[in-house]
Amino acid sequence: MAIKIFIDQGHNPTGRHNAGAQSNGLFEQNITYSVGIYLSQMLEKDSRFQVQVSRTSPDVALGVNNETSLAKRVLMANAWPADCFLSIHVNASENTSANGTECYVFSKNSNGYPIAERILDTIVLEMGTKRNGVLINPSFYVLRNTSMPAVLIELAYITNSSDSIKLRDEQYQFARAIFHGIEEFYSRT
Ligand SMILES: [Zn+2]
Repeated sequence: MAIKIFIDQGHNPTGRHNAGAQSNGLFEQNITYSVGIYLSQMLEKDSRFQVQVSRTSPDVALGVNNETSLAKRVLMANAWPADCFLSIHVNASENTSANGTECYVFSKNSNGYPIAERILDTIVLEMGTKRNGVLINPSFYVLRNTSMPAVLIELAYITNSSDSIKLRDEQYQFARAIFHGIEEFYSRT
């Protein structure tokens, strides 16, 4: 039985509800879209995995407002049902020196925690970003309402000059790093 991975590319296209952060000439929603598609292509080529993405084309906007945009992503994953839910985001801060990668899970005891650790390890190792850790955030809608292990990944900071260059130029490499983290996790279990 293939492991079913649901990839949620955070946010909706520019100009629509639930669009993401923008800084340094970059748009979060475009980065998350591309990284998600690259990752889905890597998983599709591997017979151990099946994959679904939340945004199947660059102009797909989910839901009709912020709330339903998030609800739609969770519904898709729960209905499949996926074995693992990964929501891809990039971080933003008013403090432009803030940088690095973090992964969020619902709780310390959630089944997503060890998956988040592997993905954080491979991103930090392969992308050279700062390790901000696996953090707990039970208030994130997609972590609270998914019925399978779920991880929200903040790849790096769009508001930081060196992180933003990586987010602009190394989207394939970010996807590959996540793929390696998934591979490592599922080859040990
Ligand atoms: Zn986001």
